[in-house]
Amino acid sequence: MKNTIYVISVGRVERAEFNAENRMYKGVELFRWGTSKGIFDNGGDAVAQLKKTAEEVVEAVEAICLEGDLPRPSQNVESELGDIYVTWIMACECLGVFPEDCIDVAFAKIMKRKGRMINNQFVKEGKDNE
Ligand SMILES: [Mg+2]
Repeated sequence: MKNTIYVISVGRVERAEFNAENRMYKGVELFRWGTSKGIFDNGGDAVAQLKKTAEEVVEAVEAICLEGDLPRPSQNVESELGDIYVTWIMACECLGVFPEDCIDVAFAKIMKRKGRMINNQFVKEGKDNE
């Protein structure tokens, strides 16, 4: 069953479809894709998938930096950001953890975190040695 939710991102409100059985955006489709490619054969390799995630992060940074100040990110930037998500989902599936649970745990940890912005990054209290 599909549910429509609204995603608010950088001044835009967009519709996205989430699957009720798997709350992650396109989670079921991505799981099927990974299965068809053999990514989960013999349990899969989460570390290999996260190495891909690290590569995809670098590709996204390069795409954003190359693009400069466009009014809206190009489809190439969107694609690179999507690659990060896909490879991370594959890693979660290899470990048998629900991606949404990972986000819940991370959010519970950070939601009350105190800190401040340093060089455009949020730095948690105690790590702000500047
Ligand atoms: Mg890529």
